[in-house]
Amino acid sequence: MASNENNAQAPMFKKLALIGLGLIGSSISHAARRGGLVGEIVGSSATAATRDKAVELGLVSRCHENPADAVEGADLVILCAPVGAYKGIAEAIGPKLGPGAIVSDVGSVKAAVVRDVSPHIPDHAHFIAGHPIAGTEQSGPEAGFAELFDGRWCILTPDADCDRMALAKIESFWQKLGSRVEIMSAEHHDLVLAITSHVPHLIAFNVVNTAAHLERVTDSEVIKFSAGGFRDFTRIAASDPVMWRDVFLNNKEAVLEMLGRFSEDLVALQRAIRFGDGEALERTFAEARSVRRGIIQAGQDTAAPDFGRRKPS
Ligand code: NAP
Repeated sequence: MASNENNAQAPMFKKLALIGLGLIGSSISHAARRGGLVGEIVGSSATAATRDKAVELGLVSRCHENPADAVEGADLVILCAPVGAYKGIAEAIGPKLGPGAIVSDVGSVKAAVVRDVSPHIPDHAHFIAGHPIAGTEQSGPEAGFAELFDGRWCILTPDADCDRMALAKIESFWQKLGSRVEIMSAEHHDLVLAITSHVPHLIAFNVVNTAAHLERVTDSEVIKFSAGGFRDFTRIAASDPVMWRDVFLNNKEAVLEMLGRFSEDLVALQRAIRFGDGEALERTFAEARSVRRGIIQAGQDTAAPDFGRRKPS
């Protein structure tokens, strides 16, 4: 159902265009419908299979091959593709954006996105970059669900001279999708996310591959004896390879800086193990444990072993 006729209140936006309809794009569609936030939702996706599926699932009323066709008449456009595709998308949609249209995004890096998208947004439209800190290792149009953003942070990284009304509107939109909103600079976002998300994913990809490449451990043993720690790494490492390729290509400096610090700390642990320094090991592990407790106390995860990410039924 594309329209919002059941909702008594006027929707915040008449027409939402979602460019990219994977996990995040489809979740925005579900959550926006749940909140009665938009009138019509249209979309654009790279492949015919996803376009057909998005219409079949009712995520969008129409799904275009060319993103420029989707944004015509839209008062809110959200880029939900891998960040490496943003430049081309911005070039295509720029000339079709109407007066007052708000363009935002969900990309996991921000400075590169601002660099790639901003130059193509005409003066009569507004670009406010964003990143919902919410996700699962699933991808594609069937992966989305309305509750994905509930209680999660969404970071907005507006330019200092951005339109205040547009900022207030996109902030309110994310709050109504279920999120808490924080505003910061794109550069600060990239530094924070490098250590809280990007480096952990890189480590997960690496740990899983190191185990898989061990000649004396067969694949079946890796699967059969996958204890909690390794299993959680495999879940993270199941994330979309294209999305993560683009994250590392576009947040190079911050990731390298954090990897440097990580390597130094790892060497300290290595030395503690080599020299049997149990006190140092225990102190380090206790410190890390208190971080986990802090995350649970802040309501950003549950103590459940599935990391609280199971799709609500
Ligand atoms: P996804 O499930 O893999 O979906 C990506 C979507 O983008 C697909 O519909 C894909 O189309 C489409 N796409 C690719 N290139 C395109 C192009 N040139 N034009 C239009 N559509 C294009 O990925 P996702 O997890 O939703 O991630 C989308 C964005 O959200 C990324 O920028 C990512 O950094 C960010 N993000 C992800 C998470 C997470 O946990 N997954 C969390 C927060 C933010 P086809 O299916 O037709 O190929």
